[in-house]
Amino acid sequence: MRNNHQNSVMEPDDEQRFDGIGVSGEITVGTVHIIQSGLGQVPEYTVPSDEIPKEQRRVSKAISKAQQQITRLKVKTNTLNDTTADELRLLLDAHAAMLTSKRMVTGMQTIIAEQKINAEAAVQATVHEIAKGFTKVKDPYLSARLQDIKDVGSRILRQLMQTPYQAFSLIPQGSVLVTEELSPADTALIDPRKIAGFVTQQGGSESHTAIMARSMNLPAVLGVYNLLNSVKSGQAIVVDGELGRVILNPNSVTLNEYSRKTEARRRLNRQLARLRSLPAVTQDKTRVSMQANIELARDIEGALNAGAEGIGLLRTEFMFLNRNTLPNEEEQYNLLKTIIKGMQGRPVTIRTFDLGGDKLPTALDSKYAASANPMLGLRAVRLSIKEQKLFEVQLTAILRATAHGPIQILLPMISSVQQIRQVKHIIKRMTMRLKKRDPALKITIPPIGAMIEVPGAALIADSLAHEVDFFAIGTNDLTMYTLAIDRGDEQVANLFNPLHPAVLRLIQITLEAARRNNKPVSVCGEIAGDPRFAPLLIGLGVRDFSMAWQSIPRVKQRIRALTTGPATRRALAILDQTDEDKVAVLLDDFNEDL
Ligand code: PEP
Ligand code: MG
Repeated sequence: MRNNHQNSVMEPDDEQRFDGIGVSGEITVGTVHIIQSGLGQVPEYTVPSDEIPKEQRRVSKAISKAQQQITRLKVKTNTLNDTTADELRLLLDAHAAMLTSKRMVTGMQTIIAEQKINAEAAVQATVHEIAKGFTKVKDPYLSARLQDIKDVGSRILRQLMQTPYQAFSLIPQGSVLVTEELSPADTALIDPRKIAGFVTQQGGSESHTAIMARSMNLPAVLGVYNLLNSVKSGQAIVVDGELGRVILNPNSVTLNEYSRKTEARRRLNRQLARLRSLPAVTQDKTRVSMQANIELARDIEGALNAGAEGIGLLRTEFMFLNRNTLPNEEEQYNLLKTIIKGMQGRPVTIRTFDLGGDKLPTALDSKYAASANPMLGLRAVRLSIKEQKLFEVQLTAILRATAHGPIQILLPMISSVQQIRQVKHIIKRMTMRLKKRDPALKITIPPIGAMIEVPGAALIADSLAHEVDFFAIGTNDLTMYTLAIDRGDEQVANLFNPLHPAVLRLIQITLEAARRNNKPVSVCGEIAGDPRFAPLLIGLGVRDFSMAWQSIPRVKQRIRALTTGPATRRALAILDQTDEDKVAVLLDDFNEDL
């Protein structure tokens, strides 16, 4: 975890360095390609009268999201020097005022009702209408306000249009994307063979955007505040995802340093590749299973090449993003079939959609009011139970897919026994319905597991164990919910610490409950993919790891150097600690001795 302190030092030769949050160990030297919170083509269409309230709700929600963004940006101005901060605050105040101005807000709502047009078209029309009044004015102050109005319009449109980066495919090869923010859905659109890396001004170290960057092996630095004020498209840029550093206009000394680093990394990767077919086994012959977390079918090849023994976490929600409609049963079934067959008999743990929070599909976005705390809102299994028709379609597709290989069903964000019972009931109902629909179909209900990623779930792990066949510990959310730290917020990223004694205790409680109840348990949060944590997890008794496939060789290498006895003793010593810094020292010392 890296500190998110701001640091921009001008060197005489124009090289500029910025620090942010490094979210992948990769490094690249590329060319800046700025993505403005751009709009591309704004869709315009008429809507039937009964859909007018829905379009009006979409606008209100987009405005409230834009307001939240501005509030966050204002807080960040505190890290700047006084003059810049004052200037920026004035600007943001003006934007905030516009977002509450009657002319703007009521204007949009009225246009939707009167002209029966969609939300995006209404925003565009309102901005255009207000701008018309400015065009004759020569005053430079007022013309700057015109730009502000357009910017505010863009901000609202950006919130409305969930997939603004469709044009990724047109971006030149080797580009480093620099932008305000990339949603997990935007990130899923990136082709890692074309894009060299990305840098954003917003976003935390364990956000799903960060996880996507790691799973694509893309160099990425998030939370680099104020970069957009200094950068131009076409500039040379170094992205150091390991140190969390961005360097604009790198000089020759820097370029040499980075070409040495890149070469060293290539050598290391070649060495690690040799581990591919070797088992993850400790020095004293304890066998550990290494599975992969994947988001999309494109990850299968990488997972197999890295020696993954199965898919420990398939994040199915990515099937629902970057599209205006929801995938039907056939489409989901075919996607699952491709993945299951692709894994050639290895087990695939299919997590039911973890939508909501930072991942809400366009088709559902207008249905629900903006939540002040989306991560505490209608997310994951809660949304599944509420949107039961949608859930039934997914479960039916999963049940049909059981014909193609060994699978397990994993339920995200479980916090109560009732939720599991409800889901099991729906699964039974879907099985019966399927059998009736096609009596020849061979369906076996797969093992059903619960993600332990809410502190309450860890504390009742014994009761949950009676209801499920296995557990998967999601330390990303478990850390977030235990410490009340938004995993996607760069402002608190330095406080996000899975080594906090409270998090470790909850992991231990879960492992003990699993052991008592004879239920398998895996760890699939990001700590499973960080070799630093391997001795602790092995010492605590974890024997099933699931991680981004890129991390498998490095974690395997660490596990192969371990002996369980000393790791267990060190884990017990760590569990005795009340001070998180002491925990880190005890763990790092142990790693150094390996
Ligand atoms: C977790 O929360 O640790 C987890 C593995 O799930 P996700 O990162 O998809 O929320
Ligand atoms: Mg999670």
